Amino acid sequence: MKTEKWLSRGADFPASHLNWSLILHFSPREHWGPLDKVSGLLVSELDSFRDEVEVPLILTPVGEGAAYATKGHAPKSWHYCIEGRNEYARAVDVFPAWDFWRVALAALEWRWGGVGIYPFAKCGEIEGMLHLDLRVGERVVWWRDQDGVYRYFRTKDALLEDILRSFHERLQG
Ligand SMILES: [Zn+2]
Repeated sequence: MKTEKWLSRGADFPASHLNWSLILHFSPREHWGPLDKVSGLLVSELDSFRDEVEVPLILTPVGEGAAYATKGHAPKSWHYCIEGRNEYARAVDVFPAWDFWRVALAALEWRWGGVGIYPFAKCGEIEGMLHLDLRVGERVVWWRDQDGVYRYFRTKDALLEDILRSFHERLQG
């Protein structure tokens, strides 16, 4: 795992102030949402993660932005800018162009504070979306099953066990 390139966690700033020439894999013209509402640390972290997995990560094209949103997520979503907590959106939804499960496992090993796995979400021909965020405090990981039910866990092992059990039951079914 590479070290962070030039920033420490904590002191956040808007992605509109980011030096985008240092970002290798993303551009400010992608579907982030308004850059003055998106965390610069989030963009930087996603770029480092993209570099590590070596798979293109397509920002979710729907909604207000793949990072910033004002609706359509959980009530205290890290996509939202919430007074006194996150000034900038610190979550992003992406579709790995290929190797979905390898990238999902890499996300669980990475320093993301929250990871959501959506194996049945689709973007054109691509199936499988990841939610990645820089929440602080206790880690939360989850997946959305084929019935659209969100299943939350504290550890990646508990999450993976649940996913495997669910897929196993489908195979048996
Ligand atoms: Zn999300």
